Amino acid sequence: MSESATRIPRLAESADSGIFNERVLVLIFESMKWDIHTLIQAASVNRKLRALANRLLWRELCLYRAPRMTSTLTEGSSNKRIIGGWPALAKLLFFCSGCESTRHFQVSHPSPGHFVKSTRFSKTSGRSFLTKRCREDVLYVTDPCEHPTADKQDDVGIYRGVFRAFMKSRTRECLIRRQVEFESGVRCPYCGARVWSMMAARLIPRRTAARRLGSTDDALEYFVCLNGHLHGMCWLVPLSSNDDVGDDSEEDSAGSSSDDGGDDADDGSAGGCGDEHESADVRNGQEVVDEVQIEEF
Ligand SMILES: [Zn+2]
Ligand SMILES: [Zn+2]
Repeated sequence: MSESATRIPRLAESADSGIFNERVLVLIFESMKWDIHTLIQAASVNRKLRALANRLLWRELCLYRAPRMTSTLTEGSSNKRIIGGWPALAKLLFFCSGCESTRHFQVSHPSPGHFVKSTRFSKTSGRSFLTKRCREDVLYVTDPCEHPTADKQDDVGIYRGVFRAFMKSRTRECLIRRQVEFESGVRCPYCGARVWSMMAARLIPRRTAARRLGSTDDALEYFVCLNGHLHGMCWLVPLSSNDDVGDDSEEDSAGSSSDDGGDDADDGSAGGCGDEHESADVRNGQEVVDEVQIEEF
């Protein structure tokens, strides 16, 4: 590892290790705008730094890069902890998990995971993945990341998301009440926990989810882990025409608000300042503040 990486543990292990050095580390990472690759390297230097990263630095990264989403996810919890842990949330912010074949979704070749340059997380999108009775849950979901396939016309779309307070969610309650079994052979790519197949659980509002993703309603699957991380895949339908979406609104009616009128507007972030983007999308004269765009520097 490089010289800079070996310098960090010396700071942490000096006589006055503790708050002082934690502050120094926080300042160093802040000056680097919480670059995730540097933090991954630092956290792998030794056990002490890994513990510090797990306790503090991953949380700081999430707060810096996605402050609004992070504070929404931790609403009501005073102990600065998050279900599934901060490293998992940080990974979820920046890493597309790729996909391989599962029971209800077959691909000819696995598609590798990768870091992402930019991701938008949206609560509005998240509602499209919740059945009516679970629509009160707060779920952030990304747009699909397009993965071309060699021998199939359509691309695979891979998306991810996270529930707020999953332990208290209606979705979890449904899964438990229906005694849905964990999906064998699939683990959460973010925290390693066991997952439920939402297809097997019959908890996918297919039409709204497919419409949100640009897929068809028999061509998607997503999993939710014990800690409320979501990862999923779908076949993306190539955009061909101005498809009329006006006839499939029944799934959207429950709990809907002013944002159900169609796809998310472009959040206009292309000329962004390079820092954390939280799009404040204005629709119908109201500011919708449930979308977060993060970018890798
Ligand atoms: Zn991807
Ligand atoms: Zn997980």
